[in-house]
Amino acid sequence: MKDFCVIGSGISGATIANHLSKKYIVDVYDKARGAGGRASNKKFNLKKSFDHGAQYISPKNIKFKRFVDNLISKKILKKWPGKHLFLKENIKENKKHIKIIGKNGNNAISKYLLKDINCFFNSEVTNILHKNNIWQLTFNDGSKKFYKSIILTCPFPQLKKLSKKYIKHSFINQKIKMEANITIMMVVKNLGSKISSYFFSDSVLGWAAYENSKKRFKSNHDLWTLQSTPKWANKVINNNRINKLQNSKILIDKFFKLTGFKKSKILHSKNHGWKYAFNSNPLKIKSYWNSSLRLGVCADWFVGSRLESGWLSAKDLSLKIK
Ligand SMILES: Cc1cc2nc3c(=O)[nH]c(=O)nc-3n(C[C@H](O)[C@H](O)[C@H](O)COP(=O)(O)OP(=O)(O)OC[C@H]3O[C@@H](n4cnc5c(N)ncnc54)[C@H](O)[C@@H]3O)c2cc1C
Repeated sequence: MKDFCVIGSGISGATIANHLSKKYIVDVYDKARGAGGRASNKKFNLKKSFDHGAQYISPKNIKFKRFVDNLISKKILKKWPGKHLFLKENIKENKKHIKIIGKNGNNAISKYLLKDINCFFNSEVTNILHKNNIWQLTFNDGSKKFYKSIILTCPFPQLKKLSKKYIKHSFINQKIKMEANITIMMVVKNLGSKISSYFFSDSVLGWAAYENSKKRFKSNHDLWTLQSTPKWANKVINNNRINKLQNSKILIDKFFKLTGFKKSKILHSKNHGWKYAFNSNPLKIKSYWNSSLRLGVCADWFVGSRLESGWLSAKDLSLKIK
């Protein structure tokens, strides 16, 4: 029987799996089609894509910064060139933070960390059971797998559903609210933008990223990723599936109004609703490890709302697992 299974291939799952694989046999499962979790990259066609989850990294923690710098030197990550505007009363360039992105997509970190690890995608874990010191995983197709130890990295509501009865710590009963986000991937004819990203001070539209500015592809058309504010998304997320067109229109109209670009024909647009995008209230612990059950949990929401938070949580768990 194999040692560890890790549920989730986002930065938390990829970081802990990579660490454990140096000593143990590890398998990773994810219900999604590929690695990255909420740092996902959506293909528009063979060459063009949208980072429709995490937008960029601006490392704060010194160890995480070192990790990121190392991946820049390996050409896995790179600096996002161009001007990044913070639109408040006066337009000014946001020079405060350097913005780091994946060379080919923002799922680059997960892909890199998991490159030598057995990963199983399209594999949703629907139940976990601990019996005779063995973890039994049941998948959406009814199949079962067995491991000595289990690590979970899902967003909090999904974690609670799967593992509440096995977690012997008060955090599982805390009210951890993960805020929503609505993201639009939009293709329009060339707008002539000289700006790489906009951070808006608006109640509905929070952010717009000009994908072409990342210099991963060349195109006569513009690819833009628009992200709502959490406040607006929290209000509309539950009905987003039935109101997709209407919600997309609201965000796209806002984009043209706030940037001042002349409204042009939308050649393509796709609306993605993130029900569990961020937790802004860090917990008192950074990860959880139960050595008698051999069950661990690490995820961004322990520490904060960013990729860095997931990495720090996974590093904390790796210290707890002996
Ligand atoms: C719209 C948006 C914008 C963001 N912008 C930024 C940003 O600019 N900068 C930044 O640093 N961070 C940003 N973030 C946050 C960042 O994406 C997250 O902090 C980070 O990706 C979390 O990583 P994680 O591994 O903890 O969780 P996740 O990435 O959510 O990984 C969990 C994985 O578990 C899988 N999973 C869940 N349940 C199951 C199951 N039952 N069976 C199998 N698999 C399962 C999921 O498919 C997922 O792949 C953003 C997030 C969103 C949604």
